[in-house]
Amino acid sequence: MRITEVEALYLRLPQIQARTDSSQDALLVRITTDAGIVGWGEVDSCPWAVKAAIEAPVSHTIAGGLRQLLIGENPLEIGRLWKKMYEATLYSGRDGLFVHAMAGIDLALWDIKGKALGRPVWDLAGGKFRDKIRVYASNMFRFTPEETADRVRWCKDQGFTAAKFGWEPFGRADLAFDLRMLEAMRKAAGPDFDLMLDVGLVWDATTTIQRARAFEPFGLYWIEEPLHPDDLEGYGRVAARIHQRLAAGEEECTLRGFKRLIDEGGIGLAQIDLTRCGMTQALAIAAYAAAKGIPVANHNFTTDINTAASLHFLAAVPNALVLEYCVEPSEISRALAKNPFKLEDGCFRIPEEPGLGVEPDPALIEKYLVRQL
Ligand code: MG
Repeated sequence: MRITEVEALYLRLPQIQARTDSSQDALLVRITTDAGIVGWGEVDSCPWAVKAAIEAPVSHTIAGGLRQLLIGENPLEIGRLWKKMYEATLYSGRDGLFVHAMAGIDLALWDIKGKALGRPVWDLAGGKFRDKIRVYASNMFRFTPEETADRVRWCKDQGFTAAKFGWEPFGRADLAFDLRMLEAMRKAAGPDFDLMLDVGLVWDATTTIQRARAFEPFGLYWIEEPLHPDDLEGYGRVAARIHQRLAAGEEECTLRGFKRLIDEGGIGLAQIDLTRCGMTQALAIAAYAAAKGIPVANHNFTTDINTAASLHFLAAVPNALVLEYCVEPSEISRALAKNPFKLEDGCFRIPEEPGLGVEPDPALIEKYLVRQL
C-alpha cells in the first residue's frame, strides 16, 4: 500500500469571534492510498499555517513541506514516517507548528493502519484497559456568574457528571468576582458534581497560591493552567503549596515539553492534545507520566476526530483519568462526524470500529470548506 495524496482541509464558521475558542474552525488531514483506504486526522493549531506546513514544496533537505515527504510511502510504517518528517523539518520544526502538522498526519496514518488491519486503533496500541471512560463537559466561562450557573445546570441536564469552565472573564478581575463565580457554579452543581477550573494563563505563582487557598471550600477537581506555560519554576512553587490537583500540557506537543512540565513544573495531571502531539508521541508521553506516577487526560476543544483519537488513546494507557469533550455549540465541532459519540451514564464507550472509527460528513465539509482566504 502506498500514500497517493495528503490534503489539509480548512473548515471555518462564517463568523469567527475573537475569543479563546478553537471550536470555531478546524484543520482536517485526509490521506489517500492506492488501496482505496482513506485516513482522517485533525490539527488544533493555526490552521492556515498548518496547511502551508503540509503543502509546501521541498526547499532543501531539512526545510520543506510534509506532503512531498509522504507521497509514495507505505502508510503502515508510522514510526519511521514520524522520524522522516521530524528529520526533514529540523529548521522549521522540532516543536510547535510543524509538530502539530505531523500530529494530524500521524492520526490519519493510525486510522489507515486500523482500517487496513480491520482493528481499532487502541488494539494496535497494545489493547485496552477499559471499555468506557468518564467524560467531562468542557465550556468557556459565560460573562456573569448567573449565566455560568445556568450552563452548569445545562451540563447536568445533558447527563454529564463533571464540567470544566475556562478563560475570560474568570481570573481577569478581582478575587471577589472569582469567588462569586465559583459560588454560583457550586450552588448550581450541588455537592456530587465535579467542577474543574481552567484559569487560562493569567496569574503569577503568588497569586495562584493565594487564590487556590481561597477556592478550597469549592472542592475543585483540578486547577488548570493558572500560569504561563514558560513559567516552570512558578508551576513548581505552586504545585508544592496548593492542595488541588494542578493540570497543564495543552501548549506542549513533544515528550521533551511534557518532561519539563512534569519534572520541573510538578504538575499532577498531564493534558495531551492528540491533534498537537499525535498518537505516536501521546503514547510515549503517557508512559513517561505513568513512570512518574501522574495520570493523563486529553485536551480536546475541536471535532470528533480529536474525540475519537482521545478515546483510543485513553483506552490504551493505564493512567487515564477522564476525557475532555467540548460542548460549545459550533456545528463544525459537534456535527462533523456522521456517527457522533453518545453519553451513557456520564461516559463514552471506547470505539470498536476499525481505525479511529469516526467518519466525517462530506456535506458538512463542503458547507464550511475554505478554498481561498
Ligand atoms: Mg485548557
